[in-house]
Amino acid sequence: MSGQVKGEKVYRGIPVSAGVCRGKVLVLHQARHVIARRELAAADVDAEVKRFEQSLVRTRQQITEVQRRVSETMSSNEADIFDAHLLMLEDRVLIEEVIKIISEQKANADFAFHTASDRYIAVLEAVEDEYLRERAADLRDLTGRVLDNLLEVKDALDLKHINEPCILVSHDLSPSMTAQLDKKLVLGFVTDIGGKTSHSAILARSLDIPAVVGALTISEELETGDYALLDGYNGTVIVNPTDQTLFEYGQLAKIKASLDEKLREVQHQPAVTLDGRNVHLSANIEDQHDVEAVLAHGAEGVGLFRTEFLFINRDRLPTEEEQYEVYRQVASALKPHPVIIRTLDLGGDKFASHLQLAQEMNPFLGWRAIRFCLAQPEMFRAQLRAILRASAEGNVRMMYPMISGLDELNQANALVEKCKAELRAENIPFAENLEIGAMIEIPSAALIADSLAKKVKFFSIGSNDLIQYTLAADRTNEKVSHLYEPTHPAILRLIKMTVDAAHANGIWVGVCGEIAGDPVLTPLLLGLGVDELSAAPAVLDEVKYIIRRVKLDEARELAAFALASESPTEIFARCVEFARQTAPSLFENKA
Ligand code: PEP
Ligand code: MG
Repeated sequence: MSGQVKGEKVYRGIPVSAGVCRGKVLVLHQARHVIARRELAAADVDAEVKRFEQSLVRTRQQITEVQRRVSETMSSNEADIFDAHLLMLEDRVLIEEVIKIISEQKANADFAFHTASDRYIAVLEAVEDEYLRERAADLRDLTGRVLDNLLEVKDALDLKHINEPCILVSHDLSPSMTAQLDKKLVLGFVTDIGGKTSHSAILARSLDIPAVVGALTISEELETGDYALLDGYNGTVIVNPTDQTLFEYGQLAKIKASLDEKLREVQHQPAVTLDGRNVHLSANIEDQHDVEAVLAHGAEGVGLFRTEFLFINRDRLPTEEEQYEVYRQVASALKPHPVIIRTLDLGGDKFASHLQLAQEMNPFLGWRAIRFCLAQPEMFRAQLRAILRASAEGNVRMMYPMISGLDELNQANALVEKCKAELRAENIPFAENLEIGAMIEIPSAALIADSLAKKVKFFSIGSNDLIQYTLAADRTNEKVSHLYEPTHPAILRLIKMTVDAAHANGIWVGVCGEIAGDPVLTPLLLGLGVDELSAAPAVLDEVKYIIRRVKLDEARELAAFALASESPTEIFARCVEFARQTAPSLFENKA
């Protein structure tokens, strides 16, 4: 279907995952349906028509049922609305048109119905008559219901129907949906809402597909079949790009190819500054399949294994045995490098639908991560035992997310001791000296880092959350993204406080939030005294590239300047200037 946009049109959003791609747009309608055309064999046409007719019967039953319930609780006026829906459902002209598309074009029923009803909707919307315009809205609503039945959509969007390479356009994309994306078919994605550190954005970087979020109303303006170019460096989506635009992007691709060459050269060289300071560079992963990328980018192990992705997109909790198998695979594949397994961090924007948790008013401030695990000791125990058992197979470390105070740390450690005692009694091997760390991602934890440091072997700063909680700016909300500033003096002071407390107590400190993967901020973090950086495998090359060109003394001067400054924008500008001077090649393809 051709889109509404005729000439070249540029949409702007927030760039969240680097890269450029171009191709056909696939709009996830009403954030529910993927309508893709499938070619039917001649022998299947009759069955497809039947499937379409059954979906109409099913829709009629559902509407009648809703109408009955509505008429019990509301006035008959509200219930009458459904009469209009039922009439439309019997509209022979529409039905015949759909059957014609199925039989003559050999197209699948959902595509045929969507095409025919879209034509109707466009006609109704074009009329200067309030009443008829409302009928367009009714028909859109009805179309959604019929498509739900044809595609057997319940709540979640079914991405199985994507069958050719596309740029996905959607109002939103939940982390669980993003985790299901097939890189071979989804070239990139753009959403109306979202922030740079929402977990969907993090997953896009992990999958290494270009992505733009916060593009406002793009999902309403584009249509399936439009042709677009998505620029994940600069946060733009260009629909119907002109030859001139394509030529300019061709030039950028050449610059990028030569940068890639330089980046490949550093992949298996050490992350060491010009004046000889080694920086431990590790990778963030979501499952065992990411190990390949960790090795390819020469990371020295895993600094953050987000285990919650083993818990979502499935119909029950993973057992101890299933978890053990995954942790064991990762640990032994990366041996002797360390693998830091983070205990379950469900909640916030990551949910396991099978757990059926009640909705919360403020999920990021609610029953999340270590709070949730401590309240579910049986579930937590299975994970702790699986991690402990995997520690016999490689260099496993473990850390707790969302520690807000000493109590939580003590409770979690006590549970670990209990699990160790069980395993000893069962003669099951594990590393007795397994190192345990705490994430510092709540301001209270940074403020009491001195006490926490005495109870753990390392800290890992979760800047994604530390920033949102310190600045009270939701990390997933594009409307407050201007407030979400990593270089805010409050953030830098909390990082410095954490580093000082760690070092004073003889432990090391890493950063595993998204700032660790931004080469603009690498010198600042080194200057603040951070020992380890952990980021998505695909961004590690750039981070290493700049580390190898930095002098630690100069990085410390930059950090001293930043700690003395009162202005986030001034600090950020200085970081950009420093990074551009240190590693100009990294910035040639960025605006
Ligand atoms: C963080 O908060 O910085 C972090 C690494 O954890 P997550 O992004 O999974 O919340
Ligand atoms: Mg976090």
